[in-house]
Amino acid sequence: MRNRAKAAVVAASTVTVVALAGASQAVVQEHSDRMVPVTDGAGTGSGPAAERPLSNDCSGGHVTFTFDDGPGRNTPEVLDALDGLGIDAVFFWNGRAVEGRESTVARAVAEGHVIGNHSYSHPDLTTGVLPDGSEETVTAAWLRGELQRTDDALVAAGAPDPALYRPPYGAVDTRVDEVAQELGLRLVMPWGLRAEDNIVDTRDTEGVTTQQIIDTTTPRLRDGTIITMHDGQGQATLNSIAALQAIVDTMNERELCATADVRENATGRVLDTYG
Ligand SMILES: [Zn+2]
Repeated sequence: MRNRAKAAVVAASTVTVVALAGASQAVVQEHSDRMVPVTDGAGTGSGPAAERPLSNDCSGGHVTFTFDDGPGRNTPEVLDALDGLGIDAVFFWNGRAVEGRESTVARAVAEGHVIGNHSYSHPDLTTGVLPDGSEETVTAAWLRGELQRTDDALVAAGAPDPALYRPPYGAVDTRVDEVAQELGLRLVMPWGLRAEDNIVDTRDTEGVTTQQIIDTTTPRLRDGTIITMHDGQGQATLNSIAALQAIVDTMNERELCATADVRENATGRVLDTYG
């Protein structure tokens, strides 16, 4: 169980604080979660198998690793690394990416990971703008389609019916969330507005180095921390894989284990703030 009393007194001072401007607007953090094409040639075997897996008594609590945008060509390498390090994680996957990678979905499920919904085609669900710049009209039916088609693709590939969703770019509003809730999906944000939200966006898709990912993440490791990485990307994914050992080393120092159970209130309170 998580030690919330302990967590409450641990300062987390290195978080990026997002300005609370435009309180009536949908929440979009421009830097977060850009779609970067995965080029052939990525995934050429980054790093050795894990040498120092999680091994402690969990007295410090639990951390949840999350990976977005897959399944992709680098996802098997992520799964290898997680297996070696003893990490159960949560994957937020796009329905359109599942076709042809059903075996990866089945493998992730078999290895104890949880699969959540990251929409079908990775649009901004609040504006309807797709990664290619085209735009859909945002209606309840369109939103429902983006989420339901993804659930259907994941279930067809062997995953349990998803109970969690993460909106692309963290772009969400009450209209999006109401449709998601109708489908039984609970919001898990990729970042939080405040340090105490305890959601660490590694910004791995923004060209940062492995060391920067480590430096962003390790100071904030404590009970309840949610870490956002990407498995459905190219170099970003490889950099995150390479960061895992140092993160696990710190978790062992702090007696932290990994869990694929996402704590309650993983919303970053964005809906409370923006409505
Ligand atoms: Zn994404």
